Amino acid sequence: MRIAAARETAPGETRVAITPESSARLVKGGDQVVVESDLGEHCFWGDEHYRDAGAEIAPDRRFAFEKADIVLAVRRPTIEQASQLRPGGLLIGFLDPFRKDGTIEALAARGVSAMSVEMMPRTTTAQKMDALSSQHSIAGYYMALLAAERLGKALPMMVTPSGAIHPARMLVIGSGVAGLQAIATGKRLGARVEAFDTRPVVKEQVESLGAKFVEIDLGDTGQTEGGYAKELTDEQKRRQREALADRCAAADIVITTAQLFGRPAPVVVTRAMLARMKPGSLVVDYAIESGGNVEGSQADKEVEIDGVRVLAMRNYPAMVAVDASRMYANNLAAFVEELRDPESGELKLDLERDLIASTLITHKGEIIHPMIRERLGAS
Ligand code: NAD
Repeated sequence: MRIAAARETAPGETRVAITPESSARLVKGGDQVVVESDLGEHCFWGDEHYRDAGAEIAPDRRFAFEKADIVLAVRRPTIEQASQLRPGGLLIGFLDPFRKDGTIEALAARGVSAMSVEMMPRTTTAQKMDALSSQHSIAGYYMALLAAERLGKALPMMVTPSGAIHPARMLVIGSGVAGLQAIATGKRLGARVEAFDTRPVVKEQVESLGAKFVEIDLGDTGQTEGGYAKELTDEQKRRQREALADRCAAADIVITTAQLFGRPAPVVVTRAMLARMKPGSLVVDYAIESGGNVEGSQADKEVEIDGVRVLAMRNYPAMVAVDASRMYANNLAAFVEELRDPESGELKLDLERDLIASTLITHKGEIIHPMIRERLGAS
């Protein structure tokens, strides 16, 4: 198979979908790899590193995509870029398939088969291809670091002849993959960490990291078949906010990572809760791309609300581009290996396989994924 990647053009995107390491892996498996010149510039990988790993260097995007069977990407293409993809070819990336801006329709119209890594089943067998998890982990780690750097206070307890410093208090709301990594990083930095999630199964995972789980009696919260959280009732939301307001007031750092798959993120920190927090404390909102967890947070900005700083970057993994890219490119290489017919070495999209049916959004000129079709209102 001929596999290509071009430079990402989304503002602030520094990650890449093919690294020299993943290129070598794909070439070893019998594929040809072609990357646009300067693909890895933000990750300190020059064209020579890709060449040494067996990749061909293309002068531009059009050339890279010309004969590609598979295009690997970090972000969704623009509509114009979609029109440069080869009809009949396959595109794999974070396609943000619920977003209604005509991109998915453009991919279908172009005759491109498009697979969205967000739709990967969260099962043990798919773990090595789980790009959401790899990028959430890096983001969780980085959010804790960023909070530590911005706080203006030390995180660990220090007892010195110059005085004693109490450990900083960190509260993590939403303890999925990103939240758990933020908890682990906060603990390593010496903070006193507590965390909450609406899925009760998470309690044990939080405690195994040495953090305290905040118990709130919300009644039945359940989870979806895919293991994702369900939206709370208004009464449950009220109870959660009431209980967490006290915890926020005691915290120096609050990191929010609460998400509802394919839906707007829940507001877990309100203006009233911010007003009760200590001046100078810091809130990091991970959910801004899906609407935000914190009332008043603004994309890619640090805003001050009632003396509390609220930070909401859209792309934390891009700030750790080298390792985020390495993990993501490994996820994609593992995915490509699953799509390669073991006998012919050619691309095989077997729609009977869950892995493929779950992730394939457009195929043969149509939006074929039932959930995306319905949400985009395709006829
Ligand atoms: P996510 O990004 O969809 O959500 C983040 C967290 O927010 C979740 O833990 C969710 O329960 C929580 N949340 C939602 N509403 C909330 C609210 N109002 N208040 C507080 N927390 C709230 O989740 P994710 O990190 O992508 O993980 C999704 C699921 O996939 C989890 O069940 C996870 O354990 C599972 N998973 C399984 C595997 C596997 O290999 N088996 C791998 C990765 C993830």
